[in-house]
Amino acid sequence: MKSLRIALVAHDHKKDDLLAWARANRAILAPHTLVATATTGGLLQRELELDVTTYASGPLGGDLQIGAAIVEGTIDLLVFIWDPLSPLPHDPDVKALLRVAAVRNIPVATTLATLDALAHSPLLKR
Ligand code: PGA
Repeated sequence: MKSLRIALVAHDHKKDDLLAWARANRAILAPHTLVATATTGGLLQRELELDVTTYASGPLGGDLQIGAAIVEGTIDLLVFIWDPLSPLPHDPDVKALLRVAAVRNIPVATTLATLDALAHSPLLKR
C-alpha cells in the first residue's frame, strides 16, 4: 500500500469532532504520513500516539504553510474541518488554502461525512 501524505486542520470548535473521528479511525490514518497545523497536530499526536509533523498554528500562518506544501506537490489529501459558524481572523488564509487545494485538484474533506467517505475509498487503500 502506498503511504499518502495527509494534511489535517480543524478549527477550534471542530477539534473535538476531528479527534473523536481520528480515535475511531486510527488504523486508517496510521499507515500514512501526517502533517497538521500546530494545535490540531499536537492534539492528534497525543491522542493517536502517531508521528505528526506540525506547521505553525492556523492563525499564525499554518494554513498558508499547508497551502504552500500543496503547491509544492507534497500533500495528497487535505482534511480541513473548518467552522462555518465562527468568523476567524485568518479567514483569508482559509480561503487561500481551499483555493490552492482546488487548483491542484487534491481531495479535500471539509466535513466528517466527507472524511468518512474518503476514508473508505480506494484512494486510501491503493
Ligand atoms: P491550529 O490551526 O490547529 O493551530 O488550531 C487551525 C486553524 O485555525 O486553522
